[in-house]
Amino acid sequence: MTEKPKKKPALSTQIFIALVLAVGAGIILTGNPGFAKDYIRPFGTIFLNLIKWIVGPLVFFSIMSGVVSLRDVKKIGAIGGTTVLYYLCTTAFAVTFGLLFANLLKDLFPVLSTAELAYEPAATSVNFMDTLVGIFPSNFLAPFVEGNMLQIIVSALTIGFALMLIGHRFNMEFKAVDICNDICMKAMELILKLSPIGVFCLLCPVIAENGPAVLGSLAVVLLVAYLCYIIHMAVTYSLSVRALGGVGPVKFFRGMLPAMMMAFSSASSVGTLPLNLDCSEKLGADREIASFVLPLGATINMDGTAIYQGVCAVFIATCFGINLTFSQMLTIVLTATLASVGTAGVPGAGMVMLAMVLQSVGLPVEGIALVAGIDRIFDMGRTVVNITGDASCAIVVSRMEHRRASKKENKINKKP
Ligand code: ASP
Repeated sequence: MTEKPKKKPALSTQIFIALVLAVGAGIILTGNPGFAKDYIRPFGTIFLNLIKWIVGPLVFFSIMSGVVSLRDVKKIGAIGGTTVLYYLCTTAFAVTFGLLFANLLKDLFPVLSTAELAYEPAATSVNFMDTLVGIFPSNFLAPFVEGNMLQIIVSALTIGFALMLIGHRFNMEFKAVDICNDICMKAMELILKLSPIGVFCLLCPVIAENGPAVLGSLAVVLLVAYLCYIIHMAVTYSLSVRALGGVGPVKFFRGMLPAMMMAFSSASSVGTLPLNLDCSEKLGADREIASFVLPLGATINMDGTAIYQGVCAVFIATCFGINLTFSQMLTIVLTATLASVGTAGVPGAGMVMLAMVLQSVGLPVEGIALVAGIDRIFDMGRTVVNITGDASCAIVVSRMEHRRASKKENKINKKP
């Protein structure tokens, strides 16, 4: 009798098992978090390092190959415009939603003492002009060395356009870009095979360190944030992928599960980018569009972070006995939407940008100390929302492009 080859469980199943095991092991190790920190987390760090290593070249070549394969400056402009508009609208909606919900439920928030608060906000460029200047690299290699994603995107767009403009002169087929892109994708695929180990080793120490005790009085604030995360995904993304992307919500969320689990464990949109590319393509997003829209989203689109900032602003105001006015809330919507563009897709970045949001309405920045202890738990959820929003955009823009292309074709066919 021939033996049937054993089938390995799908990557998403493996990641899910790792997630459950990590929670279990984390709870067991709550009494001894040092072990998890010293001996388990380093393997998670190795996994994240590998991802950080590949993500720069991956974004560079995938955006370049996207630009080159679209072959039309106008088309790229249209796609870029739709993408940025989608990102800004969903983020503004997310923060409005966070503010609304937090205001409705603020009576449930604990009023923590603010008498002894001391918080040193990390140095961050919150000035709009500085942020603008910072997008443009002054050195070719620096964006890669520093892992500055916005600068990598600008470099890729510029070189991609240049290649598109001169390519025809040499009758080039742009093979080199595609080959480099394929190599990066393959390397990424190999690294992704390690995701279950990565997920386990990243999540277990977080649970062991933050155990149930630390949640304490902040559990309600966390709950409100997570409620908003879930409702925003269930309503906004379900509607947009259904109505504009032609994909059923159940199929969408099921297909996104591996990337969502990765985002939850790593708290990094950039770290989840390779898996997000994979999931979005499987859900029907065009490769060239996804490779343009997703890296951009991992860098500038942070709906979950915006929700978190709205909820925390209301919570911190409550603790300081301040009632936010309507115009203050509008300012929060505006600053949180802009802050989203400047928030890096790495763990903890959203909390740094919270300082900017609080400052914009004159709330004490020291209030961040109230939520800093459990920021990681807020972060895991907000990163899931961030990457899911990016994927929904890739699907919507792909569908719109298909429609535009078929309309154009019909017009051409109709011409005598
Ligand atoms: N960790 C988030 C992300 O990577 C950013 C944040 O801290 O809000 O998307």
